[in-house]
Amino acid sequence: RAEAEREAAQAPAVTRDGRGIEVCANVGGSEEACLAAGAGADGIGLLRSEFLFLEGDSAPGEAFQRGEYQAALEALGGKPVIIRTLDIGADKQLPYLRLPAVPNPALGVRGVRLWQSQPELLETQLRALLSVTPLASLRIMLPMVTEAGELRQVREHLEAIAAELGLSERPQLGAMIEVPSAALCAASLAVEADFLSIGTNDLTQYTLAMDREDPELAARADVLHPAVLRLIRATVEGAAGRCPVGVCGAAAGDPLAAPLLVALGVDELSVEPARVPAVKAALRRLDAAALAARLPEFLALDDAAAVRQRLGAWQARVD
Ligand code: PEP
Ligand code: MG
Repeated sequence: RAEAEREAAQAPAVTRDGRGIEVCANVGGSEEACLAAGAGADGIGLLRSEFLFLEGDSAPGEAFQRGEYQAALEALGGKPVIIRTLDIGADKQLPYLRLPAVPNPALGVRGVRLWQSQPELLETQLRALLSVTPLASLRIMLPMVTEAGELRQVREHLEAIAAELGLSERPQLGAMIEVPSAALCAASLAVEADFLSIGTNDLTQYTLAMDREDPELAARADVLHPAVLRLIRATVEGAAGRCPVGVCGAAAGDPLAAPLLVALGVDELSVEPARVPAVKAALRRLDAAALAARLPEFLALDDAAAVRQRLGAWQARVD
């Protein structure tokens, strides 16, 4: 029986109505990437590279970074690995990187915006990323993207470094959708990006103007709020098949939210490694088209609690 479960975890997830969904894993480095491969992940949907920057009293050099990225690629044996560039600012701080104290760090220079204040840090990271093999398995993802120009700018840096290194191949470059402007402008981002991945943790925070770290708001800062769901739908509709859309926030591993994300049209979910088998099992029970038919009703509800309740009732009936 354990053997059958292992086999099911490694097999692709296909919904009852025939949609193939990639179930990937969120990891903090190469060690966790090995766990993810063992758990049956179809790839890495988010490697939070800032974990490499948290140890030590200075930023890791190019060689150290390359070793970690290469090890993550090897752990997945040719499956796609999405590595997110440094996402620092607000809830994520580095002791040796003194960012100016500003009144609203969550709205400050963070994520991809660091190109304006810390270009060397990101340039070193791009060099390390471009030196892995095979580049066909690597996908580079930018955090906190607000508009398409940010992608164009990083692609220019990528091109310049790749040309200097004499590379003939290019890795895919994608954007996280975690602020409302990115969701609303998904069509223009999808022209520049090879893939989009929705970061529902931050998208929920910025849509509802509720701090993701505030324990008093934790119960209400819920991804199932109709406003957040509408932005997810806007992202999928904006991408319009031009590039794949995934979800790498905690919602992807939430047993109630994950089926709804698939019904909203996302192609990939990235979850904690230990959740991969359960999420695949849940997707195999799902009739995504039947749930999609209920979307207008869910999106018209008043708040997240109402959506949770209605969705829970639907799932209890079909399971
Ligand atoms: C997110 O915001 O949903 C996300 C996946 O990124 P992080 O949790 O690292 O901010
Ligand atoms: Mg985020």
